[in-house]
Amino acid sequence: MTGGAAATRRTDAVPLFAHRAEEFRPSPVRAVFEIALQPGMISLAGGNPDMSALPHEVVADMAARILAERGPEVLQYGSGAGIGRLPELIVELMGLEGAEIAPDRIQITAGSQAGLDLVTKLYCDPGDVVVAEGPTYVGALGVFGSYEVDVEHVDVDDDGLDPEAVAERIDGLRAAGRTVKFVYTVPNFSNPTGVTTSEERRRRLVDVCAERGVLVLEDDPYGLLGFDRAHRLPSLYSLAPDTVIHLGSFSKIFSPGLRVGWIAAPPAVRARLQIAAEAVTIHPSVLSQELAAAYVGSEHWRPSLDRAVALYRSRCAAMMEALETHMPQGVRWTRPAGGFFTWLDLGPWTGDGDLLRRAVDHGVVLVPGGACYADGRATTSLGLAYSATPEAEIAEGVRRVGEMLRG
Ligand code: PMP
Repeated sequence: MTGGAAATRRTDAVPLFAHRAEEFRPSPVRAVFEIALQPGMISLAGGNPDMSALPHEVVADMAARILAERGPEVLQYGSGAGIGRLPELIVELMGLEGAEIAPDRIQITAGSQAGLDLVTKLYCDPGDVVVAEGPTYVGALGVFGSYEVDVEHVDVDDDGLDPEAVAERIDGLRAAGRTVKFVYTVPNFSNPTGVTTSEERRRRLVDVCAERGVLVLEDDPYGLLGFDRAHRLPSLYSLAPDTVIHLGSFSKIFSPGLRVGWIAAPPAVRARLQIAAEAVTIHPSVLSQELAAAYVGSEHWRPSLDRAVALYRSRCAAMMEALETHMPQGVRWTRPAGGFFTWLDLGPWTGDGDLLRRAVDHGVVLVPGGACYADGRATTSLGLAYSATPEAEIAEGVRRVGEMLRG
C-alpha cells in the first residue's frame, strides 16, 4: 500500500496508529456494564461469578501464609513457565474432563482472554480466517479483530456446532483461496448461548478439522460448572491432544480478579506461546498463581465449587421459570445444563433493532444478539446471564424483557 492510501485509511487526529487499530472498537458489552450501574437497573448481561462464590476470607488467610512462608520471593519477578506446582494441579483439573496430559503442555496465562490473544497472535496473519460459532463470545471477536482476522460464523443449534457444516465451510473457504487457521468453540455451556456440544459432535468435529489440517481452539472456562457432575463430557482436547489447543481459566471456578488461566498445547507450541507471553506480561502475577495453586490444592475448593454450582443451577431454574411466565408466544430460549447463560431467539418479534436501548428504557440490561457476531449483524436474538443476579431480580428482569417485547 502506498503512503497516500495509508493516510486516507487513518483519521487526522490519530495519524500514527497502526492499521490494526481500526479494528479496536469498544465492546458493546463493556458499554452494557456501565449502564448496569445505573440505579434501579437490573443487569442480566454480565458473565460474572456471583460474589458469594469468591472466597475472600480463605484467600486472605492463604495470602498471609504464602507471604509469611515464602517472603519477598513471591513479590519478585518469576518464571515465564509459571510457578512450580501449578501445572500439575491443572493436569488434575483437566483430568476431570477426560484429558491425560503431561505438565510440560501447560502454559500459564493471565486468564484465558490472554490465552486467546496469544494463540491468535501465534497463528494468525491479517486476512486469515477463523471459523467460530454463531453467536460467539464477544471477547474473542475483539481479539480476532485486533489481529485483522476474518471471522466466519457457523450457526449453533441445541447440540452445539454441526461438524458437517464446519467441514463444508472450511472447504468452501479454501476453494475461494482463503486460509483457515482454526475453529474457535466454547463447547461447554457456551458464552453466550449456554449450549453444550454433544459428545458425538465433539468426536466428529475434531476429526473433520484434523482431516483438513485445521486446529481447534477450545475455550473452556465453564467446563467444571455443569449442573450434573455425573454427566461431564470429554473435552475436545482429551479427544485430540495434538490438534486441539485448550484454554482453561480459574476465573469462574475461583476468582476472575486474580487473573490466572492456562493454555494446553503440544510442547513445541507451548514453548512458542511462552515466548509470546513473556513479551507481553513477562509472566502472570506470582502471588495470584500461588493463590490459585493453594486454593485448588486445598480442602476448600471442591465444596465451594459444589456450592457455587448449586447456586447457578437454582438461578438458571429461576430464569427458565421466569421465561416460561413472561415471554410472548414464539420466543424460544436455550436450556443450559451448566454455566452462566441462556440465549433467546425472538422469532416473530419485530423491534426497532436497537434492543439494548429499548431494554434500558425498561430498566433491564441484556446482550443484544448482534454484539456476538463479527459483522454486528441485525439479529432478533439476545443473551441473558443468570449467574450474578439474585432470583427475585432475575424474575423481575425477565418480566421487564417480556414487557419490552410486548411493548
Ligand atoms: N472465554 C470465554 C468463553 C469467557 O466467557 C470468558 C469470560 N467471560 C473468557 C474467555 C475470559 O476469561 P478470563 O477471565 O479467564 O480471561
